[in-house]
Amino acid sequence: MSFTPEIPVELQIRKIIFEKFNEVDTIFTNDSIFEILKTDGDINPSWIIDDLEPFINDLCDSGLARNVAQNFTTIHLKLFDAVEKLHCNACNQDIFLGKSEDRVCPNSSCKSTI
Ligand SMILES: [Zn+2]
Repeated sequence: MSFTPEIPVELQIRKIIFEKFNEVDTIFTNDSIFEILKTDGDINPSWIIDDLEPFINDLCDSGLARNVAQNFTTIHLKLFDAVEKLHCNACNQDIFLGKSEDRVCPNSSCKSTI
């Protein structure tokens, strides 16, 4: 069965980071993001932590955060810069970008220049 969240998962994850972990000195984990997604988010209920990994890799590839340690499935992350809230008029979503990230919408089905 396919599952399509109302807000793309990559945007939900960035919102959680903005709201809960928006401190450059704070180390947070994929596990804590996943717990919040399961409780308050809109994800496929059958997901396990491994399903989050491509999204976490994207955060690292785009320069929002870096992987500072990993043991088994737990990835420890640290922000490069504070995250700010913006709005993308192309997809009409609130988006969250690190201050040094490219001004491109992180919605994978949008990718518009902000
Ligand atoms: Zn957009």
